[in-house]
Amino acid sequence: MRAMSNLPPEWGGRPVWAEIDLDAIASNVRLLAGRATPARLYAVVKANAYGHGAVAVGRAALEAGAHGLAVVCVDEGEELRRAGIEAPVLVVGHTPPSDAARVASLGLRPTVGSMDLVEALSAAARARPEPVPIHLELETGLNRHGLAPDALVALAERARQLPGIRVEGLFTHFAAAEEGDQRFTRRQLEILRETSRRVPWIPERHCSASASVLVDREMALEAVRTGLSMYGYRPAPWCGTDADLVPALSLRARVARVSELERGATVGYGRMWAAARPTRVALVMCGYADGYRRSFGNRAHVLVRGRRAPVVGRVAMDMCMVDVTAVTGVAVGDVVTLIGRDGEERVDADELATLADTISWEILAGISARVPRLYLRGGAVESVTTLNDRVPAPGR
Ligand SMILES: *Cc1c(COP(=O)(O)O)cnc(C)c1O
Repeated sequence: MRAMSNLPPEWGGRPVWAEIDLDAIASNVRLLAGRATPARLYAVVKANAYGHGAVAVGRAALEAGAHGLAVVCVDEGEELRRAGIEAPVLVVGHTPPSDAARVASLGLRPTVGSMDLVEALSAAARARPEPVPIHLELETGLNRHGLAPDALVALAERARQLPGIRVEGLFTHFAAAEEGDQRFTRRQLEILRETSRRVPWIPERHCSASASVLVDREMALEAVRTGLSMYGYRPAPWCGTDADLVPALSLRARVARVSELERGATVGYGRMWAAARPTRVALVMCGYADGYRRSFGNRAHVLVRGRRAPVVGRVAMDMCMVDVTAVTGVAVGDVVTLIGRDGEERVDADELATLADTISWEILAGISARVPRLYLRGGAVESVTTLNDRVPAPGR
């Protein structure tokens, strides 16, 4: 795929955007659901679908065969419901009892860790025809948010007695599933299995996120929760090398200006880069407030006209500079690819994560709300979301 203008013709505003290939999301979901089958697949769309846009990705994932979606908080679930998505939505983070009425009216499936919340949900469900399905998280070694086996079994038995509550799921989350040594993960799985034998009436057990779905079918149990892999990335280079995952997100901008620098001129804050020879630099309107990290300065490469070009000087809040001396003919308006493919070259979130000493999850989830999202199907723009979508226009 050649980087080109996928922008709708009337596009205005700042020349930086993310392209989300919904065909890639669909293809990844089909692949993952196929590996997990007969287990159900929950597509994890927390954190605005790791920067990709929760509503568009959620719809695409459901169309491609996901059973439901997973988010981390009630607000994220509400966004999906407001968009008209009716599929099961798990809330895998902490829900305070004060959110019980909202959970019930939105029809979400919360993770429950206390009797206070169960009672609040039971009270909220009294006004509704359907019980609230709840999931219980078992602590098996991440030591974060789960309940120890005895406490979980006790809570499950008490919750089961309450009207308006249906105990639907029992799950755990792995601490080191993307590591080559799977011994700790297997021990976590074993604790889940043992505990589930004490509450055999809970129908749905789930523990696999991306890594385990790619590595071990046996861990799929009744359901899986996939995030990263659905966006086209592997949790670790060794996971799922046989899986043809397609990265869904490209981050692009247009060259806003081209300038000629004399030898010795410096670029950017702190003067961290100096021209060793006469240099042509391109101004790109993407900075760390867009999610393009400050630490990429003097390290990362972008793609212009199908060639790699280095980012020079520090990345600023709203823009960065690229040395395009070696790329012939760069002009204002040219498309710059910061993440994605252009001709034969590509820069992916793993490459950038390594530069910033982090993981691809953080690079993707860090792409901020200021960056417009363009949703592509069949290579054409299907819809666009911008920062102001949810703010009513004046006078309307
Ligand atoms: C984020 C999250 C996932 C998804 O993890 P990936 O590694 O991105 O697939 C699954 N389960 C829980 C509880 C999570 O918080």
